[in-house]
Amino acid sequence: MPYVVTDECILCGVCVIGCPSEAVSEDETKCFIDVSLCIECGTCAENCVSEAIIFVEEEITETHE
Ligand code: SF4
Ligand code: SF4
Repeated sequence: MPYVVTDECILCGVCVIGCPSEAVSEDETKCFIDVSLCIECGTCAENCVSEAIIFVEEEITETHE
């Protein structure tokens, strides 16, 4: 989940409109990025007015048992 929306989101809607792959959706409290649709272009993070979208390095989870 590289791009995530933090609690800084003020629901301005800019990221929803700007996403080229319609990966961002919005509800009453926050917006969400659908990782299955996100192409990681970074547009939403650049355009966010309150710097609410951050890039998170994917955790490497090893499943050796
Ligand atoms: S990184 Fe690009 S594709 Fe992914 S949610 Fe943001 S604007 Fe959409
Ligand atoms: S651009 Fe930023 S503040 Fe605006 S809805 Fe998207 S995440 Fe929230």
